[in-house]
Amino acid sequence: MQVKTMCIIGAGTMGTGIAQVAAQAGIRVYLLDTYEDAIPRSRELLAKSLQGGIEREKITHQQAEEVRALVSWETTYERLADADWVIEAVFEDLEVKREVLRQAADLVRENAAVASNTSTLPIKDLAGSFGRPEYFLGMHFFNPAPAMKLIEIIPGEKTLPAVTEAAIALCERMGKVPKVAPDIPGFVVNRVFAAVLGAAIELWAKGAEPEAIDSAIELGLGHKMGPLATADLVGLDVALALLRSLHEQTGHPRFEAPEEFVALVESGKLGRKTGEGFYQYLEGGAMTEAAQ
Ligand code: NAD
Repeated sequence: MQVKTMCIIGAGTMGTGIAQVAAQAGIRVYLLDTYEDAIPRSRELLAKSLQGGIEREKITHQQAEEVRALVSWETTYERLADADWVIEAVFEDLEVKREVLRQAADLVRENAAVASNTSTLPIKDLAGSFGRPEYFLGMHFFNPAPAMKLIEIIPGEKTLPAVTEAAIALCERMGKVPKVAPDIPGFVVNRVFAAVLGAAIELWAKGAEPEAIDSAIELGLGHKMGPLATADLVGLDVALALLRSLHEQTGHPRFEAPEEFVALVESGKLGRKTGEGFYQYLEGGAMTEAAQ
């Protein structure tokens, strides 16, 4: 399966990041988003990310220009008929994703693959909505997609081995590290992260200092960043949604969010992006000295 043209449905944070990654590998990319205001946001996101890449000397001006020339945006799905590979990156909502896949099924070429970038929803719950489950699988990129090396590949029950192999080859071509993961809620990374985070939040809710919890995990387990600082970076609203989704799907108490954490999120303290979460941040995102 030679991938020359990719369509990404959903031009949000992830869709835009994935578009950059694919275009850097020379793939023609169409970002499809039915919400018109998403498009200027996505253009700006891509421009900022490319500028950041130039400043950090990860890419050259020339490469940034090539990426810009390879990415375009549309508000309809017609382009799906031109794609060799489709990535679905719309809201993390089962019904929204199912509807998008039903619509895509009528347009996507017979031998083109469709991959969902879902973080928590099992592929088996989505595969049926796309009429050809043999050509459907999960490809879970991490945020920010241009920087994060790992992509979890999640074959569904009916995914053809050739499609899984093509997904692995595509990741490698984009300079990423693919890892095949089981089709369970949260796959590997989010499943384990949520369990560790749940335990850390439980200690925090009982009165432990975030710094004491994080530094113990960093020193004791050799993690680069503790779970609470990681949650602040990801966004506490995103972290709460992750815990809730896994709790709803598995019923396991380890994923239950303590009410103190729900109250923190509801108070608008969402981590780095709002200046405060488990820690306080200076403008620009650095931790305050007291919290370091
Ligand atoms: P986002 O809200 O930034 O972007 C979602 C985009 O989908 C929006 O631009 C929205 O306009 C668009 N959209 C919604 N319904 C649509 C439809 N019917 N057709 C076309 N476009 C539609 O969300 P995101 O953070 O980019 O997440 C997208 C997916 O990636 C989710 O499944 C999420 O779980 C997953 N994911 C997110 C992260 C993360 O850290 N943000 C990491 C890995 C995976």
